[in-house]
Amino acid sequence: ELTSAEPLDPAELDFEGALRPSSLSEFVGQRRVVGQLDLLLRAAEMDSRTPDHILLAGPPGLGKTTLAMIVAHDSGRALRMSSGPAISHAGDLAALLSSLVPGEVLFIDEIHRMARSAEEMLYLAMEDFRIDIMVGKGVGASSIPLELPPFTLVGATTRTGLLANPLRDRFGFTGHLEFYETDELLQVLTRSASLLGLDIPQPALAEIAGRSRGTPRIANRLLRRVRDYMTVHPHEEARTAVDSALALYDVDPRGLDRLDTSVLRALVERFGGGPVGVSSLAVSLGEDAETIEAVVEPFLIREGLMVRTPRGRVATSEAWKHLNLTPPAADQT
Ligand code: ADP
Repeated sequence: ELTSAEPLDPAELDFEGALRPSSLSEFVGQRRVVGQLDLLLRAAEMDSRTPDHILLAGPPGLGKTTLAMIVAHDSGRALRMSSGPAISHAGDLAALLSSLVPGEVLFIDEIHRMARSAEEMLYLAMEDFRIDIMVGKGVGASSIPLELPPFTLVGATTRTGLLANPLRDRFGFTGHLEFYETDELLQVLTRSASLLGLDIPQPALAEIAGRSRGTPRIANRLLRRVRDYMTVHPHEEARTAVDSALALYDVDPRGLDRLDTSVLRALVERFGGGPVGVSSLAVSLGEDAETIEAVVEPFLIREGLMVRTPRGRVATSEAWKHLNLTPPAADQT
């Protein structure tokens, strides 16, 4: 899916790498988190200590990995990258931690998906920079303490609520990343277009920005498709080229893609506009509930198309309008 906030393939990862800002000064938007991180890094440097562990929370594609790389880059430290799903037992984490160099930044993406046994090992590692390695099994088992070099853990998660409290509490700082404003995405796109040597007028870039669901990864991806379109249709005017390219990929004028639209349609047409639980919605669409909760829902809520109530998700009258349907008169939201 073109507007999936996850990277799609290796070619896209290369493309992203080329467009990734490498310092806080190049990083667009997120002024709050950037200011907080800047202070944290500067204080640590003045005190000559390893910066506190950092948790970055927010939907995919908003810059969590980029910020982790910047934390390492701006403080002149090495960076090791891993992810929750890659740490399927405590041994994986032990191997990772015991090979860190002093002061290294360890980035764990999707940290909420790490194995439970590894998570418990991580508590001690974060707090005391040591772990206990279990050797042997059953009655003969014993644990060997292992000192670790000081390191800074940067964890990323789509929502802090997915983390167990003891883990959440061990981060010195939690940065909440917000969706980007359209003018911020325009800055991202202007920078990307210039890095790629593309000559696209501002109104055309602004149109892409408006359809990017507040997400830089999606903005860059749409730019890539528009670039393709312009290569194939060199004589088409830029603004119409944007419209044609995005229509071709099912990105509607509001930035909703096929999945967003099908979630909204299911909510309205199958559940009468709600309230309905996210798991029922997911089942009715054959989709993963976590994707709907982490990616689709925050966007639809932000667009004013859906609200969360204690009894479940409800479509707003705006949602009915967007689908060219008439909301039920009795129960307008
Ligand atoms: P996440 O880890 O949150 O999924 P990433 O850090 O991988 O997101 O960002 C995805 C892409 O979006 C990167 O290639 C990066 O170039 C771009 N990007 C993200 N945030 C910004 C930003 N604030 N300014 C410029 N580009 C950004």
